[in-house]
Amino acid sequence: MGLRIEDINHLLGISPPWEVSEIKQDKAKFTAEIHVVCSDRSVLRCPDCDKVCPGYNHRLRKWRHTGICDYRTQVVAHVPRVMCSEHGIKTVSVPWTEARVHFTTAFEARVIEWLQDATSISAVASRMGVSWTMVAHICVDETSSKKGHNYITVVSNPKTGTVLYVGEGRTIASLEGYYDGCSSAQLDALESVSVDMWPAYISATKARVPGADEKIAFDRFHVAKYIGTAVDEVRRQENRELRK
Ligand SMILES: [Zn+2]
Repeated sequence: MGLRIEDINHLLGISPPWEVSEIKQDKAKFTAEIHVVCSDRSVLRCPDCDKVCPGYNHRLRKWRHTGICDYRTQVVAHVPRVMCSEHGIKTVSVPWTEARVHFTTAFEARVIEWLQDATSISAVASRMGVSWTMVAHICVDETSSKKGHNYITVVSNPKTGTVLYVGEGRTIASLEGYYDGCSSAQLDALESVSVDMWPAYISATKARVPGADEKIAFDRFHVAKYIGTAVDEVRRQENRELRK
């Protein structure tokens, strides 16, 4: 496990009494929730006068946050309300909204590491024990962190959307990692591999999957994306020529 809660607190700029309690991820829905808790309710302050006040109750709140690696991310916390003798019932201030904290590149990188750990091939393999042979169709995509520095390769079941494998980078080796975890019978049983039109994925599939030429499918989504990129490139070239 590459990521510790203390690291997340530090990288998010969360300080006591607040701390991250857990990160929940839903791999099928590509969502993540960062749960933050207030560990000491004896130091709650009125946001108007900064006086320490008795707690009144709390409200569950969620904040939409910068996506991590295409995971729609929310910060979730029960935020205390205090009873100030002068200002009445007030919601305490929380550091992450005050500072408008954005996840740093370092944080994103660590979370990507964590996601990779969480979906390691061994974890997937143990879960796949029963249904592995039913995975006759796979879908391969590349995705990146917001700034596009860290690519990962995601193999999923196109019917259920279940993530089967996550590999670092978007190289031939990134996808070969998935095929390495398959027996030759399982590779034979693959009926279709829907890939991004990314040469490394095509090469890895041709090298490892018997009869790959008949099995590789460029689905409408991937083709549309590829054509979109090609059209953009043509436009850029035209613009450059026009400027001359
Ligand atoms: Zn007050």
